[in-house]
Amino acid sequence: MRQPPSQALPVSSGLGLDSSAVRARMVGKLAEQGVQDAWVLQAMGRVERHRFVETALAGQAYEDTSLPIGLGQTISKPNVVARMIELLRQDAPGKLGRVLEIGTGCGYQAAVLSHVATEVYSIERLRGLHEKAKKNLLPFRLPNVHLILGDGMLGFPKGAPYAGIISAAGGEDVPVAWLDQLAVGGRLVAPTVTASGQQALVVIHKTATGFDRQVLEAVHFVPLKSGVA
Ligand code: SAH
Repeated sequence: MRQPPSQALPVSSGLGLDSSAVRARMVGKLAEQGVQDAWVLQAMGRVERHRFVETALAGQAYEDTSLPIGLGQTISKPNVVARMIELLRQDAPGKLGRVLEIGTGCGYQAAVLSHVATEVYSIERLRGLHEKAKKNLLPFRLPNVHLILGDGMLGFPKGAPYAGIISAAGGEDVPVAWLDQLAVGGRLVAPTVTASGQQALVVIHKTATGFDRQVLEAVHFVPLKSGVA
C-alpha cells in the first residue's frame, strides 16, 4: 500500500502544548488494537479531537471512549472511527475518492475522512449539530469537506457515485439509496440491526455483478432516523 505523504502534526491549542503527544499515544494504542492502515493512523494523529467536544470533556478526548456532543448524540470512540475508516479504505492503493458520511454529528469523523479521501460529503439531519459541525470545522480549513443538512437515509445523489459510504447511525437495514449511490468497487460500512436483533458492523462491497455483504462485530450506535429536525 502506498504510504500517505508525511506531514507535521499540527501544533495544538486548548489542551496545552503536548496535545500532539497525547494524540501520538492514542495512535500507538490504535495500532496495538490492530489498526494497520498508515493513512488512517496518520489522519487520527492529525485531527485534534478535543476541539470537537465541550471544554469540560476535552481531558477525555484522547481516551478510547464515546462522548456526548449534544442533542442526545455521541461522538464514536477513536477505535471505532479508525476501524470503520480502515474497513472503508480496504484495498485502496492511495487516497479514496469521494466519500459520503451519514451523521456529521460534531464533524470529527468528517475531519478524519478529509485526510484519507479526495472529497467528503457529510450529511446531518439535526440542524443544531449541522451548525455545530460547521463551527467546529471552520478553523481546520478543509476545502474538501462538504456539510449538508438533510435526511441521510436518502443519501446525497449530487455527489454519487461514492467510493465509500460510512454511517455513524444504525438502522434496521441499509437504505437502498446508499447501495444505488455506491460506485462499483466501492464499500459501505454501517451499523445495522442483524438477524439476531443486535446491532453489528456491516460491510457491503459493490461488485460488477452484485453485492458482497459481511457482518462483523457487535457495535452500539445511535439510531438512524428519517427526516430533518
Ligand atoms: N460522525 C459523528 C458521529 C455522530 S453520531 C461525529 O464524528 O461526531 C450520529 C449522527 O447521525 C447523529 O448526529 C444523528 O443526528 C445523525 N443521524 C441519524 N440519522 C440520520 C439521518 N437519517 N441522516 C443524517 N444524519 C442522521
